[in-house]
Amino acid sequence: MAKYIKCGTLIDATGAGLARNKLLVVEGDRIAAVLDQADTPLGAEVIDLGGYTVMPGMIDCHEHLSLDVGDEAAQMSQPVPYLSMIAVVNAEKILRAGITTMRDVGEKYFIDVEIKRGIEAGLIKGPRLLTSGHPLIRTGGHAHFLGRETDGVSDMRKAVREQLKQGVDLIKIMVSGGMSTKGSLPDSQEFSDEEIFACIDEARRNGRKVAAHLHGGPGLKPAVAAGVHTVEHGILFTEEDVKLVAESGTWLITTVGVGEVAELDPATPPHYREKASRSNANGLQVRKWAKQYGVKVAVGNDTNHCRMDMEARALVEAGWSPMEALQALTIRGAEVCGMAERTGTLEAGKLADIIAVDGDPLTDLAALRSVPFVMKAGVVEFSEIGQAR
Ligand SMILES: [Zn+2]
Repeated sequence: MAKYIKCGTLIDATGAGLARNKLLVVEGDRIAAVLDQADTPLGAEVIDLGGYTVMPGMIDCHEHLSLDVGDEAAQMSQPVPYLSMIAVVNAEKILRAGITTMRDVGEKYFIDVEIKRGIEAGLIKGPRLLTSGHPLIRTGGHAHFLGRETDGVSDMRKAVREQLKQGVDLIKIMVSGGMSTKGSLPDSQEFSDEEIFACIDEARRNGRKVAAHLHGGPGLKPAVAAGVHTVEHGILFTEEDVKLVAESGTWLITTVGVGEVAELDPATPPHYREKASRSNANGLQVRKWAKQYGVKVAVGNDTNHCRMDMEARALVEAGWSPMEALQALTIRGAEVCGMAERTGTLEAGKLADIIAVDGDPLTDLAALRSVPFVMKAGVVEFSEIGQAR
């Protein structure tokens, strides 16, 4: 039976403005129609979101379910069952925050692949997942405690194949060094040009795209030349780097909140805090260039789970309109995930990934933190509607 969702304010994320008094008709897992509330049939099953802003479920393009902000190496030394519990808890939290689709860009032990299986089997709650398995890392490179260490072209191809064997949706490679790994330089190139090419070529031949961890430095050029799909973070990019990303049509996934939180969180090791604080200052300029040169941008919370408001705020600070920022959180993310035909906007024919936020996110992005209703593919996953809050 169809469900009828009364929307106080509707932001469909197509780029159209706000709409009032709309009615979303949900049949099965899809949005069947967008009508006016005056068209509500008698006796219909109505979900009354009249007091809220209704928008598409958000899409987080850079996450790690079993990692939290803090000492990542210490977290990754935990046994598999413990890490799995962390991932289960985070998956539920992330869905509850209104994120209905998520790219997991690196887990140990293929936890992401198994969590995805658990979600799809209905065992646990979580967003629709795209998985990458182990990030590919040069021996001793950034996040070596998390990924598959690999050296040389032939072992790189083998490492990609190992991830494919477990059924991952994309491949993640650590092209540059990183913040959270002691001794790693965020603007160093950790793999040779040949290794980077081998990774992207092996993935492409097998129908997978590659996400490259890349704060900045010389690794950008070979990654773009090889056809990398997304560059993650980009916080140390120069103006020339940003132009290259724009011209190539490569996606930039900004992850601002994690850096800001890591800089201040006492649980974060000193080397991580110090690198974050040196890099954060450059990030705003990178985002301004990205806006100026028309880079395609979507966002990720990374280990700073559920804080889409911070990612949206960071884009608005750099010149995005609030509506463009909300599109970065929704339809742009769907494009990154190859799911723009299925989700990311609220239109007839798309999956019913529908959330309600308390307030107007276009005037106050903090409203994105208050999500009393989450529907994923037509199923009400969480609802506080009609309850005292
Ligand atoms: Zn990450």
